[in-house]
Amino acid sequence: MRKSVVAIVGRPNVGKSTIFNRLVGERISIVEDIPGVTRDRIYASADWLNQEFNLIDTGGIEIGDEPLLVQMRQQAEVAIDEADVIIFILNGKEGITGADEEVAKLLFKSNKPIVLAINKMDNPEMREMIYEYYSLGFGEPFPISGSHGLGLGDLLDEVVNHFPEISEEEVNEDTIYFSLIGRPNVGKSSLVNALLNEERVIVSEIEGTTRDAIDTHLHKDDQDFIIIDTAGMRKRGKVYETTEKYSVLRALKAIERSDVVLVLIDAETGIREQDKKIAGYAHDAGRAIVIVVNKWDTIESDEKAIKEFEAKIRAHFLYLDYAPIVFLSAKTKKRMHTLIPAIKLASDSHAKRISTNVLNDVIMDALAMNPTPTVKGKRLKVLYATQVAVKPPSFVVFVNDPELMHFSYERFLENKIRDAFGFVGTPIKLFARRRQ
Ligand code: GDP
Ligand code: GDP
Repeated sequence: MRKSVVAIVGRPNVGKSTIFNRLVGERISIVEDIPGVTRDRIYASADWLNQEFNLIDTGGIEIGDEPLLVQMRQQAEVAIDEADVIIFILNGKEGITGADEEVAKLLFKSNKPIVLAINKMDNPEMREMIYEYYSLGFGEPFPISGSHGLGLGDLLDEVVNHFPEISEEEVNEDTIYFSLIGRPNVGKSSLVNALLNEERVIVSEIEGTTRDAIDTHLHKDDQDFIIIDTAGMRKRGKVYETTEKYSVLRALKAIERSDVVLVLIDAETGIREQDKKIAGYAHDAGRAIVIVVNKWDTIESDEKAIKEFEAKIRAHFLYLDYAPIVFLSAKTKKRMHTLIPAIKLASDSHAKRISTNVLNDVIMDALAMNPTPTVKGKRLKVLYATQVAVKPPSFVVFVNDPELMHFSYERFLENKIRDAFGFVGTPIKLFARRRQ
């Protein structure tokens, strides 16, 4: 199901990123663990009262050296385009400025639900000062303090109240949803076109759940697919659409609705830092992944070239050791036939269920082969394991003391599960729980 999207808008220094970080909390992601990757997130999931939603910090989208007003207008546009509810933040220490009024006008015209937050109200006495903000016409202003974490509960109650009824997207369990992500110019649009033209299939464009998403239906090898197209969407001609952060945001939205994510790499230019970052998002989201090396026509191709490129990918994407790699050319259609089988394989793995009996046979064999570690004289005891979820396959291992389960042993068990059941193309999750 699609999650509601909330965007934070406001002048520089009103406290947008402080509030974003508070609402998102400490969710450490693999993306941010990669050295050299910027830490400033602009899109992340958060929850309130058991409702999960996605949050955008529009302040993080650097639009260039534009004057303040132009930048703010563009941020407001991003919010209006992308969000279901907008939190408009003002600095309570400064009152309403001219720039605030300009943004207010734009937001007002959008007819989106706007929740007004007055930040930096660090002391309760300051709450008396919020009345002037009624004049903006957005109803009740919510006094908050981002740095002290005050008033955020009331603010979120109001935000959640405005969430649209999101109709259960008609997700057909038998259909594989996939998206293509990658740097600009790796060939995402070309690959979508190649897939669609290759078979003279009936292609239909289905209006997506969000007004700007284009979902394309593809029937191939007796299987229904939906391609969630992000590349084809950049055609609206807005300035911010070319910024890297914005394309990341679009990719994240597509990843969320996908079963399988195709991570595209350009054979001609090789692997770049940005490729790793993009792949990290798909891994973090727990989606099945197929690595697609496109533009293979530009390489003098033989088995050796494939082996070499594969080794490079494996060295750069250590955490994606489970992802199959296909080499193809969207342009010449060379090796195109290898793609669909890889997508199907990854999708099957992603949804696979293992019975508890069979799983425990594997775990017991693993224990016999490599006895559990001892920490300070205490030995880890593994009692049994069970699969608790699919997409991605998730396992709970019941143990005497989860503290004794070290990363290396967890990795060992994970590998044994993979050896036994395949799980090609999907991350799997392992959780240790206490059971006496
Ligand atoms: P942004 O530019 O809108 O993202 O603003 P930041 O989140 O970077 O915050 C700008 C400055 O305001 C930083 O120095 C923050 O520490 C400070 N700040 C944020 N929230 C509060 C608050 O609730 N009270 C006070 N006194 N300062 C805050
Ligand atoms: P996108 O930005 O990721 O959607 O990339 P495009 O599909 O627009 O492709 C960018 C450029 O790469 C275009 O000039 C394409 O013609 C070219 N291109 C795409 N696929 C291939 C390929 O397989 N081989 C070669 N040589 N060029 C390709």
